[in-house]
Amino acid sequence: MKKEHKVIVRFAPSPTGPLHIGGARTALFNYIFTKQHGGSFILRIEDTDKERSEKKYEEDIFSGLKWLGIKPDDIYRQSERTDIYQKHLTTLIKSGAAYVSREPKKITNTTTPPFGHPSSTEEGMIEVVRFKNPNKRVSFQDIVRGEVSFDTTELKDFVIAKSVSEPLYHLAVVVDDFEMGVTHIIRGEDHISNTARQILIQESIGAPRPAYAHLPLILAPDRSKLSKRKHGESVSLAHYRNAEIAPEAMVNFLALLGWHPSGDASEVLSWSDLLQHFSLERVQKGGAMLDSNKLNWLNKQYAKQPR
Ligand code: GLU
Repeated sequence: MKKEHKVIVRFAPSPTGPLHIGGARTALFNYIFTKQHGGSFILRIEDTDKERSEKKYEEDIFSGLKWLGIKPDDIYRQSERTDIYQKHLTTLIKSGAAYVSREPKKITNTTTPPFGHPSSTEEGMIEVVRFKNPNKRVSFQDIVRGEVSFDTTELKDFVIAKSVSEPLYHLAVVVDDFEMGVTHIIRGEDHISNTARQILIQESIGAPRPAYAHLPLILAPDRSKLSKRKHGESVSLAHYRNAEIAPEAMVNFLALLGWHPSGDASEVLSWSDLLQHFSLERVQKGGAMLDSNKLNWLNKQYAKQPR
C-alpha cells in the first residue's frame, strides 16, 4: 500500500437494535485491517430512520466497541449530515442523473425498512427521488469473493430519497463513503447485492470506487441464519459481556468467525497476534458457524493467563 493512499474504513451500524454479533465481527475485521495499514476507523451511526433509531442502541454500540477495545478515530451520525446529502441530490437532479417522481403510493418501490415509507403529498400520491438507472452490468472485485457481477436492469429507476432532504440508505451510504474518503468497504455478505446500486450512484457523483470485502454470514450451529427470534439473546454482543466472557476471548472468537490463521498456528490469538497474522485474503466465502463451545474454551485459555 502506497503512503499517499491512507487506508480509511468505516463501521456503519444502524442503531435500531442492540449491537449484533455479526456487527461486532464486521467492526473488528475493519479495525484490525486498518490498524495493520496505519489507517483510520470511522464509526458512522446510520440513523436516518427516525422511527426505528434509538439512543439506547447507539449507546449499546459505543459501549460494545469500547468493551472489545475498538477505538474509533472519528464518529459521525447521518442524522446530522442532511445538508450534505441534499447538496448531492440537488446536483444529481440538475444533471438528470436522478429525478423527482410524483406517483401513486402503491407502485412505489422504495427500499422498505429500515427507512419506512415515503411521505404523502396528497391522498394516495407521493413524491420520491428516483435514480435514472443506466441499465448496465456492474462488476467489481471483492477481496473475499473474487469477481462479482450484477445486471442492474431489473433494479429499474430505484428510489434514492423520499425528498431532497430525506435520503434513503443507498444514497446516504455512497455520499458518506465518498465524503469521508473511505478506501475499503468491509461489511457483511447481506450487503453484496446493495453494492451494484451503490456503484451506480458512485459513478454518477464522480466518486472513486473503494475496495470491497464482503464477510461471510454467521450461522447458528444448525447452519440456519442467526435470528433474534430463533436464537434469542445470543445474537447480541451484550449477551457475552453479561455472561462474563473476557473481552480478549471475545475478540479472539470473533476473529475466527470467517478467518483462520494459516498452517497449524494456534487459534489462541491476542490482539498483537491478530494484528500480525490477520488478512482479508484468508477470509472464507462460506458461512461461519457460531460455536459456543469454542468461545467457552477460548475464555478458559484467557482465564489461565496472568493479567
Ligand atoms: N447501516 C447498514 C447496516 O446497519 C450498513 C451499511 C454498510 O455497511 O454499507 O446494516
